[in-house]
Amino acid sequence: MKRILITGAAGFLGSHLCDRFIKEGYHVIGMDNLITGDLKNIEHLFALENFEFCHHDVSKFIHVPGELDYILHFASPASPIDYLKIPIQTLKVGSLGTHNCLGLAMAKGARILVASTSEVYGDPEVHPQTEEYWGHVNPVGPRGVYDEAKRFQEAMTMAYHTYHGLETRIIRIFNTYGPRMRLNDGRVLPAFIGQALRGEDLTVFGDGSQTRSFCYVDDLVEGIYRLLLSDYAQPVNIGNPDEITIGDFAEEIIKLTGTTQKVIYQDLPKDDPTQRQPNITKAREILGWEPKVNRAEGLKITYDYFKNLPEDELYKKEH
Ligand code: NAD
Ligand code: UDP
Repeated sequence: MKRILITGAAGFLGSHLCDRFIKEGYHVIGMDNLITGDLKNIEHLFALENFEFCHHDVSKFIHVPGELDYILHFASPASPIDYLKIPIQTLKVGSLGTHNCLGLAMAKGARILVASTSEVYGDPEVHPQTEEYWGHVNPVGPRGVYDEAKRFQEAMTMAYHTYHGLETRIIRIFNTYGPRMRLNDGRVLPAFIGQALRGEDLTVFGDGSQTRSFCYVDDLVEGIYRLLLSDYAQPVNIGNPDEITIGDFAEEIIKLTGTTQKVIYQDLPKDDPTQRQPNITKAREILGWEPKVNRAEGLKITYDYFKNLPEDELYKKEH
């Protein structure tokens, strides 16, 4: 049985990855310090023999007994309000945490895939974003703590590949959504759905003309699975190229939820990217991957998930 370590296992993406690799017959070791994650996301796995959970901060030395075939490094705060609240931990998990994971991969002879992000492109001047574009990031702006940690992560991962011959994979993930996002993590989709469910107005930041391209979580997980098993070490964009303005997205959520609330406008956060759409030619050609779930289908599944959460989740204060 292949053994895989998944860091950030109790988070949104990490928990879906645990499910997928369990389904594929792997022995999964989930690691998390629960800083933005929740054990509820993986408690259904606790009774399984081929799942273990390890409560650990990956920015500190990582010890995993036994062999490892693969490592997926997904630990990191991911929503802007999270990484603004815990900026130093964000920098540490992207840098020291990545270094620890790479060292562990070397020691175990494991292949490692690291979770990078479309944020390495910053506020992009090339549209849609191709992997060849170097980006437009403000290192000392508020988002720098996340963007530069991820850029360092990529550089460190590539250095281990080039200088140590380690088998590495880098995925650049574009905005992904689905069940198990935290209702109050500040990201736009849970923010809008939470507001609709609480009977509040939907807060659009800026004039709503900025764009994002939303990928359903099952599609992303398929892309990660294929990239891990591929032999391609350069970064690959995974995301859904169906781009929408945030203003139009708010209208979609109003229709979906049937709320009678309206849109209100608030200040645009500093350095908020004005446009974002992945060019997925590489993913198509190298992995034979493309998204299958359109936004209407994905949003319906996600709305059903949020609607069925216990009511106190709606009003829960954040960490
Ligand atoms: P999340 O906050 O739901 O999950 C992150 C998990 O990592 C949490 O469970 C958290 O407790 C854990 N964690 C954070 N720091 C840790 C540390 N030092 N040690 C151990 N565990 C730690 O976020 P997510 O959306 O699931 O994102 C997961 C990964 O994917 C992140 O690396 C993020 O940068 C990347 N990513 C996500 C998106 C997206 O749209 N969701 C987009 C681009 C990149
Ligand atoms: N956004 C918004 N209202 C909210 C939360 C976010 O208009 O209540 C906007 C935000 O300014 C950004 C977009 O939605 O332009 C996506 O924000 P999110 O935090 O989800 O992700 P990211 O900016 O990292 O892509």
